Amino acid sequence: MAYCWYCYQPNDHDDGDCDVCGHPVLPPPATPAADIELWALSHPDLDRRIAAVRWLGDHHDTRAVQALRQFVEDPVLGPDLAAAAAQVLTELTVPGPDCGLRSARRG
Ligand SMILES: [Zn+2]
Repeated sequence: MAYCWYCYQPNDHDDGDCDVCGHPVLPPPATPAADIELWALSHPDLDRRIAAVRWLGDHHDTRAVQALRQFVEDPVLGPDLAAAAAQVLTELTVPGPDCGLRSARRG
């Protein structure tokens, strides 16, 4: 089973066109892994979202910050996702010695 790259609906096939929206199920060729993980932040499967949160944290991808803040501030998707997002958010927004995030606004 694959979730559609365009509409996130489950399909019982791993490639070809989505049964729901008609777009290709798979992401465009050569889509960077980080973009796939950013996509997965909206995944219907909560475990997949949490995996994406952790992957983006491990790769210090600050493009995830806005979504992570939303998971923390509005934890309707559950405490596990909120906790993972809070942890990664801390890692991404605490300035390191050679990190350019010092200008990030607080509060
Ligand atoms: Zn679709």
